[in-house]
Amino acid sequence: MIHSINPATGESVDSYDNHSAAQVGAILADAHSAQKEWALQDVRTRSALLLKVAAALRANKTEYARLITVEMGKPINESEAEIEKSAVTCEFYAAEGPRFLDDESVASNASDSRVVFDPLGVVLAIMPWNYPFWQFVRFAAPALAAGNAAVLKHANNVPGCALALERAFRDAGTPQGLVQALLIDASEVAGVLADPRIAAVTLTGSTAVGKLVAAQAGSLLKKQVLELGGSDPFIVLADADIDLAAKTAAKARFSNAGQSCISAKRFIVQEQIADRFVAELVKHVAELKLGDPLDPETQIGPLARANLRADIEDQVRRSVAAGAKLIIGGKTVDGPGFFYEPTVLDHVTPDMAAAMEETFGPAAAVIRVADEDTAVELANATEFGLGAAVWTTDVKKAEKLARRLEAGAVFINGLVASDARLPFGGVKQSGYGRELGEFGIREFTNIKTLWVG
Ligand code: NDP
Repeated sequence: MIHSINPATGESVDSYDNHSAAQVGAILADAHSAQKEWALQDVRTRSALLLKVAAALRANKTEYARLITVEMGKPINESEAEIEKSAVTCEFYAAEGPRFLDDESVASNASDSRVVFDPLGVVLAIMPWNYPFWQFVRFAAPALAAGNAAVLKHANNVPGCALALERAFRDAGTPQGLVQALLIDASEVAGVLADPRIAAVTLTGSTAVGKLVAAQAGSLLKKQVLELGGSDPFIVLADADIDLAAKTAAKARFSNAGQSCISAKRFIVQEQIADRFVAELVKHVAELKLGDPLDPETQIGPLARANLRADIEDQVRRSVAAGAKLIIGGKTVDGPGFFYEPTVLDHVTPDMAAAMEETFGPAAAVIRVADEDTAVELANATEFGLGAAVWTTDVKKAEKLARRLEAGAVFINGLVASDARLPFGGVKQSGYGRELGEFGIREFTNIKTLWVG
């Protein structure tokens, strides 16, 4: 059985039977034959389906947003925004898919030589709970436009979202078998990945699981895209607009209760403005409204699971024991649900848990530095390399610093966020491959040379 628990109350929402081995076999067989048919469709037809998916998502936005909130605790406004962003991304690939997948002529000794983009087949999508609709849709929209099929192994705390996604694609008229959810335990994933009907795998989740899946997929020579953890630096230089930086910092760290791979996690601030920055940040954090995530006024909901709250509590405790200064928060909230107070730690040093480890919860770590070079050095002093932000009024200087940052994206004077138009992914232990944009749609294609004598 797969159980979903409401993290705001700790109470059971629903339980679902696992798919049996026979059901899993039937799902893979359906996906395999559906993909063969789908690959023969014109790219315009395939892309046009995504307009209907966008409409199906929007038609049930209220229901789907509520499901997200009830299963993983995100404030309802953020859940609604997640459905809208998923719909917009479908529309983006409906419009741009044909152009991205168009043949590319290349001059050679042939009378005609071209690069064409064929699908790979059925892609296994192993997805996390933190953006349960968005994470799947941002993979599935381009993958389907490119002619692939998708089987979704969702995180086991969001089974309702997994089935709702399957329904949204079906409501949109997606051919039977092309998009299906697998209700299985993590221990059964290896068997599915090894099945010859699976051509490739995409995983968004922890680095530990990424390594396991990458090792298995590598041994099978199956293509992988891995979007793993992050410990994004948010660098604030002395000449920055401090008020705007602090306001953005609060959003960058505390949206979704800090449970995002691209949340800003380490605030690396130049010493001479650090007191002002921390005071401003704390002012915004103190104003955050914590409570029932179904209440539209709420800005901080619970953590998605009890163990995730225990993890952040432990990281804060170890950092304080090592000398970090607790400015605000730092406690679990009494009562039902997995709530944790929004927390700011100052005077964090690079060897503390809050700086060394990924903090997947509402705790900001402020690290004070003397100069820009030290800021870059500490920003890179992590095993992760997903996103980074640089705040300064000297954009030319920021562009130079950006090239020295080991990250898949650097945002200057802005909040690191994914955008359907721009590629998204990491380096180092944050994974490899890219999602979104033109680069993302190419990941699950066979980049085929066509040569005519
Ligand atoms: P996991 O990496 O454990 O889970 C992500 C997905 O992988 C889920 O669908 C999970 O299924 C599946 N999975 C787990 N173990 C295996 C396995 N052995 N083989 C194949 N698939 C597997 O993340 P958690 O939910 O446990 O979160 C832990 C940490 O991961 C967070 O604290 C954060 O650091 C990071 N994380 C990063 C995310 C990102 O956006 N990059 C998103 C979520 C988490 P199941 O749920 O059934 O275990």
